[in-house]
Amino acid sequence: MSSEGKALRGWPLILLVVTLATPALGLQLRSCPASLGQGEMAVVEVQAKGKVTGGFAGEPLFFFPYAPDLYRALIGVDLEAEPGPRGLQVAEGERVLRATVMVKRRPFGLQRLNLPPEMVELRGEALRRVRREKALIRRALLGTKPQPLWRRPFLLPLRGRITGAFGLQRLINGRFRSRHTGLDIAAPEGTPVVATNDGVVVLASSLYLEGNTVIMDHGLGLYSFYLHLKEFFVKRGQRIQRGKVLGLVGVSGRASGPHLHWGVVLRGKRVDPLSLLEALGEQGWKRGLSRRP
Ligand SMILES: [Zn+2]
Repeated sequence: MSSEGKALRGWPLILLVVTLATPALGLQLRSCPASLGQGEMAVVEVQAKGKVTGGFAGEPLFFFPYAPDLYRALIGVDLEAEPGPRGLQVAEGERVLRATVMVKRRPFGLQRLNLPPEMVELRGEALRRVRREKALIRRALLGTKPQPLWRRPFLLPLRGRITGAFGLQRLINGRFRSRHTGLDIAAPEGTPVVATNDGVVVLASSLYLEGNTVIMDHGLGLYSFYLHLKEFFVKRGQRIQRGKVLGLVGVSGRASGPHLHWGVVLRGKRVDPLSLLEALGEQGWKRGLSRRP
């Protein structure tokens, strides 16, 4: 028999094995990205009858029921994650499925900024204050709710113009500084800023660099940050609804003009807010941004 004939005869066996491994109502990976850029997040969806567990890049995944027999989990990679493959596993009882998600390098741009030296070269009391406030933010991100607090799609917190993309390498007063970990949306001072979705306020404070700041926990380690507000109308511990006005656009903290710095963190990973909207946003959110992504 020719080698071609042998190869063809192998096909029914392969198909049979695949069929046995994924019967129609058993565990199935319905949706999983083949790749994620640095600082991006996505939804993983599985079909299962019972309790689903799993992991991604060495950390546990938290599945939540989405529809009958369908479960979802969020995965994200940090802005500065090393490119390369990451393993994903999902399990239901004894059955385990595996996939690979490739983390890809994203071409983040450069931003030149000139700011008052006292906001950049921190010394003395200002430096101590910034360190205390960094610790305050870290503590605010510890006690997330173990279930999603939202049901509906995520909203753009305001309409405006993108003036600073997520991930920019920043050259401030001629020196390389930290990466830009949020999205800057410029709008006139006093423009209302709304909660991107339902959640609990875990921080509402006036901070040195971030200015008047609100952080919301949406459950499952998903947090949204609203910085440089003129004022805010919510307090820590308050449960608020999607679309509620939580503050007004301002220039408080280290800001060179009125804008909202909108940040998103998923279980410690700094992710692009636009990636949250791509994954879970309301229809038509791009129309709210004048420099479209
Ligand atoms: Zn910013």
